[in-house]
Amino acid sequence: MNSQSAMTIELIELGDITVEVVKKNIKHIHLRVYPPNGAVRISAPLRMGLDRIQIFADSKLDWIRTQQARLRNDVPETSQVYVDREHHYLWGKPHLLKVVAVDTAPQLKLRDDCLLLQVSPLTTTAQKCEIVDRFYRQQIEAALPPLISKWELLMDVQTKNVTVRKMKTKWGSCTPTLATIRFNSELAKKPPACLEYVVVHELAHLIEPSHNHRFTALMDRFLPRWKFDRSELNRLAI
Ligand SMILES: [Zn+2]
Repeated sequence: MNSQSAMTIELIELGDITVEVVKKNIKHIHLRVYPPNGAVRISAPLRMGLDRIQIFADSKLDWIRTQQARLRNDVPETSQVYVDREHHYLWGKPHLLKVVAVDTAPQLKLRDDCLLLQVSPLTTTAQKCEIVDRFYRQQIEAALPPLISKWELLMDVQTKNVTVRKMKTKWGSCTPTLATIRFNSELAKKPPACLEYVVVHELAHLIEPSHNHRFTALMDRFLPRWKFDRSELNRLAI
């Protein structure tokens, strides 16, 4: 029998961070934050219960956030420079970028399978980045209203204020006391089911603010496939 066979992988939630727990034949628990995206993994002895692992993880939350912030500062803001033939994701699918020089106002359009970036030859990379970001934000702003209405009805909750902006560490956030929900515009790069998962997740916080057993039960009830969607979402980090 090899030691590889005695290994299990589970996921736990730590605030909005998903932690991979690998149980294997070791004596002591330890935790690592991995570059480049700050993924968190805990290695734990086979017999250790998830409750104890959760307590251990909670005690490390500040340290994890510090490590993730450090990694983010090491990573360039974007590796993309918005030139012809570059691939950009939209709703989970890669699209070829076509850059076209124009004299009119810059914009990004979806044409056939291509993302058409119309800019002047003087447009800087930072400006192109802004145009692309705005395009993604508009995609999410257009996709959200029917989703929110659908799930408000199904979950019997009511949002007061929904906003979309680019965020570095979260796919969404909710302030239950104000019924305010914020979505990350980068969700437009992920399959549509991922946006729906984040909608259900954030709306569930209007019923249960924390990530406890009650919250998990709500997710199981309303969106039985939520764990699959979440792993899709985190397969490539923000
Ligand atoms: Zn949450």
